[in-house]
Amino acid sequence: MELQGKAALVTGAAMGIGRAIAERMVAEGAQVLLCDVVDDLGEQAASEIRGAGGHAAYLHLDVTNPQAHAIAVAHAEALFGWLDIAVNNAGISGEFRKTAEHTPETWRQVIDINLSGVFLGVRAQIPALLRRGGGSIVNISSILGQVGHPDLAPYVAAKHGVVGLTRTVALEYGRQRVRCNAVGPGFIWTRLIDNVPEEGRRGLAELHALDRLGEAREVAELVSFLASDRASFLTGNYYAADGGYLSR
Ligand code: NAP
Repeated sequence: MELQGKAALVTGAAMGIGRAIAERMVAEGAQVLLCDVVDDLGEQAASEIRGAGGHAAYLHLDVTNPQAHAIAVAHAEALFGWLDIAVNNAGISGEFRKTAEHTPETWRQVIDINLSGVFLGVRAQIPALLRRGGGSIVNISSILGQVGHPDLAPYVAAKHGVVGLTRTVALEYGRQRVRCNAVGPGFIWTRLIDNVPEEGRRGLAELHALDRLGEAREVAELVSFLASDRASFLTGNYYAADGGYLSR
């Protein structure tokens, strides 16, 4: 129970990696506010966690909306009394196109959610963590926050940006006991992968040293650890949960 007594907020928590993070944190004793734009699945996730004896609630939060972040933080503080942990996880892949074929709109959509959404999140979360006397922010980047990938320029740029933002926040607030780290998942079994045909999945699996795709719960383990006091000297860094993808 490494997160006993802690209060956490997770964005993009209705499904996939975000839901697994919320579940892991609850299993470690945290109270968690799940946030997403897919309200039926978000409500269902929170209700299933409560049904299993955990403490969880759901709130609609579009990460591109600055006011919605302030409301979510206030909601978490009202529900739990304080906020210790924030996980900025919501993200989309965007369209697959060569860079010159991306439009300002396809670029902006991914940057707005995957990068500006994280900025707006930490901007609203930091004051709450300071009120609490410290805390931990974990921003979900990607292996594509370290290396390039054809046809995904907005995604790759946003995920690299998340790493730079994370390091900067860590430098700015470390003295006030706010830690900030980025996690870079490899290719993980989520709805994203469901749409890839069988041979495509095999090809993706082969890019990982472990010769398989990851599972959301394997990313959640790392995020939960970084959020916990066991990671008390870890800040300003990028940690891959990538089955060895970045080793090649
Ligand atoms: P997912 O299964 O699609 O879940 C992401 C959730 O975020 C969805 O519920 C999605 O709703 C929601 N979301 C999208 N836009 C949002 C917004 N504006 N505000 C709030 N929520 C929003 O994706 P995932 O695979 O778990 O990915 C989670 C994070 O991990 C993302 O940041 C992703 O880039 C990163 N990641 C994933 C992989 C992978 O292989 N799966 C690899 C590396 C990094 P919608 O259904 O409406 O989109």
